[in-house]
Amino acid sequence: MPKTSKIQEAVKLATKAHDGQLRKTGEPYIVHPLAVKKILEEWNMDDDTIIAGILHDTVEDTDVTLKGIEEQFGHDVAFLVDGVTKLSKARSGMKNLDSYLPETSDNLLKLLIATGQDVRVLIIKLADRLHNLRTLSALPPDKQKKIARESLDVFAPLADRLQMGRVRVEIEETSFRYLDPKRYEELKKLTEERLKRADKKLKNAQQAVEDLLKHEHIKYKCDGRVKSIYSLHKKLAKYDQNIDRVYDLIALRFIVEDVTTCYLTLGLIHSLFRPMEGRVKDYIAVPKQNGYQSIHTTVITPDKQVVEFQIRTHEMHDYAERGLAATFFYNEQKLTSAYTEGRISKLPSHLLWIKELQETAAKLASGEKVDTKKLKLNLFADKIFVYTPKGDIIDLPKDSMPLDFAYRLHSEIGATCTGAIVNGKMVSLNTKLHNGDIVEIVTTKNSKPNPGWLDKVGSKHARHKLLSQLHSLFPNFAANPDPPEKKEKKK
Ligand code: MN
Repeated sequence: MPKTSKIQEAVKLATKAHDGQLRKTGEPYIVHPLAVKKILEEWNMDDDTIIAGILHDTVEDTDVTLKGIEEQFGHDVAFLVDGVTKLSKARSGMKNLDSYLPETSDNLLKLLIATGQDVRVLIIKLADRLHNLRTLSALPPDKQKKIARESLDVFAPLADRLQMGRVRVEIEETSFRYLDPKRYEELKKLTEERLKRADKKLKNAQQAVEDLLKHEHIKYKCDGRVKSIYSLHKKLAKYDQNIDRVYDLIALRFIVEDVTTCYLTLGLIHSLFRPMEGRVKDYIAVPKQNGYQSIHTTVITPDKQVVEFQIRTHEMHDYAERGLAATFFYNEQKLTSAYTEGRISKLPSHLLWIKELQETAAKLASGEKVDTKKLKLNLFADKIFVYTPKGDIIDLPKDSMPLDFAYRLHSEIGATCTGAIVNGKMVSLNTKLHNGDIVEIVTTKNSKPNPGWLDKVGSKHARHKLLSQLHSLFPNFAANPDPPEKKEKKK
């Protein structure tokens, strides 16, 4: 059966399953999954992701079962729907533990990614959140604020992690508008005033650059960019609320064909206007942490206007705006690895998983069978996340055991540990911990660590703490500070 009719089938199933349910807006519930479908289509996601997006709320809220979905739509769709369902469960689990505080948001983000497993699950989750934000006005104010807070703290960084700049900005702007409507309006007005005042001078600067580029036969696209209200708000906090110190309030963006032309364009701009010292940033040679690439320079034009220019290639632009979703798109277009051609080669090593994903995405798009495990996010693959009984999340290296957890809390808790309770059950100290375990450490005053514990720690941190305690307890104690098997594994 062709995939498009599978999508129709999914719409039919979801419509039937959600029949009679209403959203807080008063509309029939199906409006929401259909909106998620539309967002995922705009992001050029693959059919399995779109189908899973349509069905994302069925298993949790209706009679539809995972098994039924697997029979009708295959394993991959079922896997994705299951991932989204598990994510909402993990989150509501955290809510029950009452542990959601802004301080834990980084952990929540990590948990989302660790639990998300497949990057497409996170992309569906983002589409889901985006639509819920767009329709937030239907909820009571306290709920609006809560969802906005969580979106700002967790989902915006998640979008950033996936390099989906446009989505991040929409999440930030909408959330901020609900969290602090007064400030939002104030800054919006301020920006508009500034923009109006600078309009003529900006047009002059843009015209001068465009003339020169044309003269040099350089193909380009130019658009203006106004800083988002939320990032202005953040920047003003750093600069004593002095808007004159925000140099990138208005930026002119030039998009050109290739990297060489980026540098050429930079040179041309500097031949026209005086660059401000220390304001040239080469994110092409040294990309930002999330892989963002572009050259930024701030100049002063002859009519004393400060303007930031941003120069980048089309690929970099698409990447900055749409991130991973753009990756799927490019692969669909059979634009073979932009990596090997060096156009987006300079990703920091911790982001190399994107390359893997990209290759897998290419296979998916060409209809090749793909091992779903390959889509697993490697970002935190070497970590596990466990809870304290109070619900705080502690991240530990994979293969950690209760003593690793104990030493992570405090070296004294480690030293006096006499037992561990995992998920309500007493376990031995050499039990491996897993994602989501709730771990409680039993301590006994004046109890001492012993050398046998060296086999019961998996993390470097705990091992070092333990060793230094053993050294002071047993002056003649000698042991290799590194775990034996880890020595030769170094790459
Ligand atoms: Mn939903």
